[in-house]
Amino acid sequence: MSKVNIPTFKMNNGLEIPALGYGTWMGLDDNLEFISEAFPQMVDALSYAIDNGYRHIDTAHLYRVEPEVGDVINQKIKDGVVKREDLFVTTKVWHHYHRPSDVEVSVRASLRRLNLDYIDLVLMHWPMSITQDGVDEKIDYLDTWRGFENVLRQGLVKSIGVSNFNVEQMRRILANCQVKPVVNQVEINLNLGQKDLVDYCQSQDVIIVAYSPFGTMVPSRNAPDSPEPKLNNPTMVGLGKKYGKTVTQIALRYLYQRNIIALPKTVTKSRVLENASIFDFTIDKSDMATLAAFDNGYRTVRPVFWQDYENYPFDKVASKMDIPMSLRIWKNGANADIE
Ligand code: NDP
Repeated sequence: MSKVNIPTFKMNNGLEIPALGYGTWMGLDDNLEFISEAFPQMVDALSYAIDNGYRHIDTAHLYRVEPEVGDVINQKIKDGVVKREDLFVTTKVWHHYHRPSDVEVSVRASLRRLNLDYIDLVLMHWPMSITQDGVDEKIDYLDTWRGFENVLRQGLVKSIGVSNFNVEQMRRILANCQVKPVVNQVEINLNLGQKDLVDYCQSQDVIIVAYSPFGTMVPSRNAPDSPEPKLNNPTMVGLGKKYGKTVTQIALRYLYQRNIIALPKTVTKSRVLENASIFDFTIDKSDMATLAAFDNGYRTVRPVFWQDYENYPFDKVASKMDIPMSLRIWKNGANADIE
């Protein structure tokens, strides 16, 4: 029997999505190089996650892990641990593929890399369109969305959604689409509550999926100037004691009680179980208010190198930086990039 039992939410197209997923972005190191050494650990942890009840996996073309993720999935199906229809696999279309016809090129390449017949959910990763050379293509995301509606019609994917869209961009896409996005995947955590965006999307029956659900709480995201709460924050430690849970479990449960899906990433097996063991307790109303009060608008993911590009979704800050090469170009070969 699975060790964790993860509930589902119903999307606006009637399909179900598990309320917590396994994140597969391994991140960039201090030199802004992609961390590929973590792949074997990720493969192990993902395999363990599926064995123990995870059914929702979040990946992307950018992450370079689609072949590894697909191998784990196919092995689990072969071993009889799960059936394909038990799993919910999300991938994303990168900035280079925003022409409507390129969306299909990108999705077909993801299908090939994942070695799957269909993808459960494909997202427009960001609203900007940028070439590998860093040129702003200024393609309207409404045009790109037509490409998403096309791959849905063709049955390559079961659902389509967006990521990193702000309120204004959500209003515009909802007013001009044939098929509504089922989700908007954005950063939400104790530092960044995004109340207006969450309220608007939920009022429109668009599910919010939270990336970087721990914010700056965890050491890998813990910059010297980053705000509370950290893992040793006294209020958080107190809440952990009160509910018999860890501080990180409190942070994830808080999101669930806001009807938000969290995508914690971990390559550490013990944390795989810890992160999904949040469906057996309830944070009371006054503690939910205490947790909401941590919101200070601090973004963990602030890609300043894109802020002069059309449709950049966040407020701009005084900073100049080139786009890291690792976010522009990655090679063919082991990870079978699009030819
Ligand atoms: P997370 O908030 O999931 O933080 C990941 C870090 O937290 C890792 O260092 C991990 O360490 C650590 N960690 C995980 N669980 C625990 C725990 N229980 N206790 C202590 N530390 C813990 O951040 P991410 O930025 O990785 O976001 C999660 C996922 O969201 C990504 O993997 C990706 O799938 C998605 N994402 C999407 C984006 C988008 O633009 N759409 C942008 C960013 C992320 P370790 O692995 O060593 O255990």
